[in-house]
Amino acid sequence: MAKITLEGIRHSYPSDGREQIWALEEISQVWEDGGAYALLGPSGCGKTTLLNIISGLLKPTRGNILFNTDDVTETTTSARQIAQVFQFPVVYDTMTVFDNLAFPLKNRGLPKTEIIPRVHEIAAMLDLTESLDRRASGLTADGKQKISLGRGLVRSDVNAILFDEPLTVIDPHLKWQLRSKLKQLHQQVGTTMIYVTHDQTEALTFADKVVVMFEGKVVQVGTPQELFEMPRHTFVGHFIGSPGMNVLPCNTDENGVRCLGVSLGLIEKQPGKGNQLEVGVRPEFVFFDELGIPVRVNKVDDLGRYQVVEVEADGQILKMVVPESESIPSENPCISFDLDFTKLYRDGWMVDSEETA
Ligand code: ATP
Repeated sequence: MAKITLEGIRHSYPSDGREQIWALEEISQVWEDGGAYALLGPSGCGKTTLLNIISGLLKPTRGNILFNTDDVTETTTSARQIAQVFQFPVVYDTMTVFDNLAFPLKNRGLPKTEIIPRVHEIAAMLDLTESLDRRASGLTADGKQKISLGRGLVRSDVNAILFDEPLTVIDPHLKWQLRSKLKQLHQQVGTTMIYVTHDQTEALTFADKVVVMFEGKVVQVGTPQELFEMPRHTFVGHFIGSPGMNVLPCNTDENGVRCLGVSLGLIEKQPGKGNQLEVGVRPEFVFFDELGIPVRVNKVDDLGRYQVVEVEADGQILKMVVPESESIPSENPCISFDLDFTKLYRDGWMVDSEETA
């Protein structure tokens, strides 16, 4: 197993002589030995490019990769001892489930006395014991993807296991089962795992640390709670959470930040340079209040355990998450923000702020 360090990684694909476009901007990042990471971001943000650079399928245009203290930038995938699980199952249909799982071990010349117990151990973890003697061709898509996961997990000599959207082909109702299974497997095997996905639920369920990417950059690395309570970038606020964070234009005067036509009671600690100043507040931290900002209620969606309320103030639309038990005021509704969770952003990035006395 290894700690993986990315030092100043940048990548651009060949551009036929046109202007060089960076699929990855500068990324410096440490993946601790034994960690469970998710690489989360929308389509095209550079997740697969980064994963392929870590595995050795792609050589970065700039920068270095270290496994522990060894520079592996120039080495092949097999020399890096990386296991990969892709979107679509990589399974030999004519072989039995047992032989599929044993394949990576046989390839490395391990004796049968080691292969047999290891295959049985992995099969038990994945609930495949009953199917070991069956041909893989008879299995469903999720059964086959379990074999792919098993082939990734079966080697005990790997430095890391990389998963590239491994649940894409799985039926939605089985996804949650495999998702929690993967988390459990990480706890059992303890290998560094990096899980690429554009699905926040998959990322937040699996990972101890989520690495959020946007337009070729890592914008935040944090626990699910940190990403929820302290989004470092407005993109993280938008992308994580359902509904995402409210991002509202604002300006400052002698009383601090003004937003939705009122003073919020918040100031920027060290007013910085940059153009756009915005307030970010998650729907969970906006509440109805007798003496707050006057709003009009546009829509109420009852989602069972809570209600999502859309309100409008000063020409801006906001979302609120309101407990099921709470009634929505019908006359002169007003709202307030929980200032502990109301953040200021300059050009997208969070800046330090504090409450005015
Ligand atoms: P997805 O979830 O859609 O796979 P991603 O986040 O994994 O997206 P990448 O596939 O890494 O993103 O792509 C990052 C950028 O690099 C995109 O703009 C993409 O068009 C570009 N790109 C990816 N592969 C190539 C390639 N082989 N040649 C040229 N450009 C590429």
